[in-house]
Amino acid sequence: MSDAQQQKPNSPSAGLCADCLNARRTESAHGSVFILCELSLTDPNFPKYPRLPVLTCDGYQKKP
Ligand code: SF4
Repeated sequence: MSDAQQQKPNSPSAGLCADCLNARRTESAHGSVFILCELSLTDPNFPKYPRLPVLTCDGYQKKP
């Protein structure tokens, strides 16, 4: 069986964070991808590491 579950940084499984201006991607040594929400640095209403996929978010700003 092939492994089709690899997560790509731009994977749609990140939901809105995948193309949000406030998202910073980080990758662990094991290849897991985390999204750091930069809004969390100034606004405690946003989690530092949002639980993916994020489907609705007030801070979402689409990348140009
Ligand atoms: S603002 Fe929302 S959509 Fe954007 S990175 Fe943070 S949690 Fe994700």
